[in-house]
Amino acid sequence: MLKFIGGDDDLKIYLHVSDLFGENSWFVVLKPFLFVVDPGRGSKAAMEELKEIVNVESVELVLTHGHVDHVYDLIALQPDKVYLHQSEKQVLLEPSYSLFDQFGINTACFAQIHFSDPSELGKAWKVIHTPGHTPGSCSYLLRDDYLFTGDTVFADSIGRTDLPGGDWQAMASSVARLTKLFREKPDLLILPGHGPITTAKYILQENPFFIR
Ligand SMILES: [Zn+2]
Ligand SMILES: [Zn+2]
Repeated sequence: MLKFIGGDDDLKIYLHVSDLFGENSWFVVLKPFLFVVDPGRGSKAAMEELKEIVNVESVELVLTHGHVDHVYDLIALQPDKVYLHQSEKQVLLEPSYSLFDQFGINTACFAQIHFSDPSELGKAWKVIHTPGHTPGSCSYLLRDDYLFTGDTVFADSIGRTDLPGGDWQAMASSVARLTKLFREKPDLLILPGHGPITTAKYILQENPFFIR
């Protein structure tokens, strides 16, 4: 079920929480595009629900990283474009890295996908490479108001670095980079890959990985 999060005349953001690991899939309507940030399991049904209320001409997927819970409905959504960081392809295409192997799902068809570089997203978006959870994990800034952080940052924690491709040092650098951004933009809304929406200010004050 879709939940309306916020927006204005030109922009509307909806959330669908997947039944697989409680992953957050974000539906961003920025006419004439529908961007889906992390199409987790159930996103296909959620998109059909959305089509009842908005006119969707084009579907573009914005992937924070390649883990199964964030890309489960990738193919089902029949996207026009798929944005993924260059260094994350190895994660998505290798089932023991994407963790699809744990579900016995064959992902050979992913090799046929043409991936677009996130830097080619329209001017409403800015990509920030935030490796650590995986090599090509990215956070996406939308209009200076919203930041989609995937599994890099949650309200009260950060993503694990013990999965294949994880790197604690890289994560520490990413946290430092985001700390700088959060100090500049305390009112920034943080839309993470799991758990509640929060603000940059809250994270700087309450998230133990950001307190120094
Ligand atoms: Zn992940
Ligand atoms: Zn996740």
